[in-house]
This record gives sequence, structure tokens and C-alpha cells, in this order.
Amino acid sequence: MGLHSGAPVRLRILPASAGSGIVFHRVDLDGFQVEAISRNVARVSYATSLMKKGVLISTTEHLLSAFIGTGIDNAIVELDNLELPILDGSARPFVELIQQAGIRKQRRPRTYLRIRHALEMQEGNKFIAVYPADSYSVSYTINFPHPLIGKETFSVELANGSYLREIAAARTFGSRQDEQTLRNMGLIRGASRDNCVVLTKDNVENPPLRFADEFVRHKVLDLIGDLALLGKQILGNVVADRAGHAMHTALVSRLLRDRTLWEETTVEDEAASESLSIHAAVGQLA
Ligand SMILES: [Zn+2]
Repeated sequence: MGLHSGAPVRLRILPASAGSGIVFHRVDLDGFQVEAISRNVARVSYATSLMKKGVLISTTEHLLSAFIGTGIDNAIVELDNLELPILDGSARPFVELIQQAGIRKQRRPRTYLRIRHALEMQEGNKFIAVYPADSYSVSYTINFPHPLIGKETFSVELANGSYLREIAAARTFGSRQDEQTLRNMGLIRGASRDNCVVLTKDNVENPPLRFADEFVRHKVLDLIGDLALLGKQILGNVVADRAGHAMHTALVSRLLRDRTLWEETTVEDEAASESLSIHAAVGQLA
């Protein structure tokens, strides 16, 4: 079920050829294709949505995050409705699907987007930036007025399985106090205690948390998923403070517009040099 639409959806992930990237296929609309790239970003508020010629693919961030976290460069994602399934609110079910399918090396080097110069963006008290680095790392700070959260920072380098251990399982969250406002906006129609951490005034309605700082870890998960719209793995250090989907995707489009800030490169490291797809089709669409 889609988190915001509440629409039932089935999804299947299939292998794709090297260089094709991540492409969504709406099988309910004659297989209409929407590439997971910045140019197709449409609405960005409480989730990131892609649109091409009026065809929508909503709430892409958790699956795209899972692809980056498992190193998948190329895949076809078939779905039969307009929003990706929310599942348990994290990226873990997607990671498990990918692992179930298996991962295939493709005989073509992976190209990375290596940050050459810093880019910083500030909007009120929101901040996001990316700095040159030899690997991909993310540092996120949130400041949420709730006794269980407050100011939290989480930093991680995406290497050696850290995504799977520390990020993938972190669930999305929302508070009972905001619920009606969001529902009045036509959002979170599919939300339930099974697919998000529900905050009450001073506690969590559906414990236990998967991590004491699950909230900020989920923001890292979202950020990685939104930055996947660059279409390439990043070599750089991303720092965010109270940003959100709109700033994440703004950073992506600013970066892509300014070719002096980055270069495309391959790396010598054997383990990181080849592009990857999944080994076999997996999911629910026949
Ligand atoms: Zn999320």
C-alpha cells in the first residue's frame, strides 16, 4: 500500500543492462517508463515524486535508498499503481528482496560522480552541503521538539555493509498531533502503526524502536534515496541539518547544473569497480 495515496500496489524488480540506471515501468499504463533521475522530479513535500508526461511515480526514496545501499546501479522497477509500497516504513524489505534475487556483476565499470568543490545551501535554519571526499559519507542532524528525539546527529560512511547494519531498518515516523493536518492535505492515507513509528506527545505508541536514534537514521535513509536521483554513486561527504526532501532534491539539481563542481570517474578498487544489477526478477507482479 502507498503511504500517502493508500492505494494498493504490486511491485517487481528486474535485471537491467549496464548503463541503463533505475527505470520505473507503470505496467497499468502500458509499461510507461519514468527514469529515476533529477529531471523527472515533480512534487516534493512529504515524499519525493517523479513525473513524466503526467505519469506519476510517488514516494521513490526508500527503494532508491535500498538500491544505493546494496550497490545496484541498474534495474527495472515495475509497478501497477502510482505510489511505491510503504511496507514496514523502512528500506529493509526492499533490501531483502534484492538479496533474495541475488546481485550480478556487469562487465562494465561503474561511473561515480566525484565532488570536486564544495556546494552549500542554506534556507532559514535548514542546511545541506556536499564536500569532496574519496568515499560516500553522510552526516545528518535533526532537531525535533519531542522528549525522545531533540537534537540528534548520525554520521555514516557507506562502506563494508554499514548501510545494511545501521540504516536500512530505520522506519519513517510521524506524530499523532500532526496526523489530522496531514490527512486534511490528502496525505498519509495508507499510514498505520505497521508502517511508521507513531509518536505521541511524550512517547512512542508502537514500541520498540529499532534503534534509540531511529529517527535521524531514517533521515539518512531518505537523503541517500533522494541523492540517488543524481543517477550515479557519489564520492563525497554530504552534511544535512534539518533539511527535507525539497532541499535534498534541490542539492541534486544544483549539482547537476554546475559541471565545475564534480567529475565522472571510475575507481581502481576491484570490489567497487563494476556496475551491478540484480540477478533475477523478484517481487509480486507476474
Ligand atoms: Zn522516508
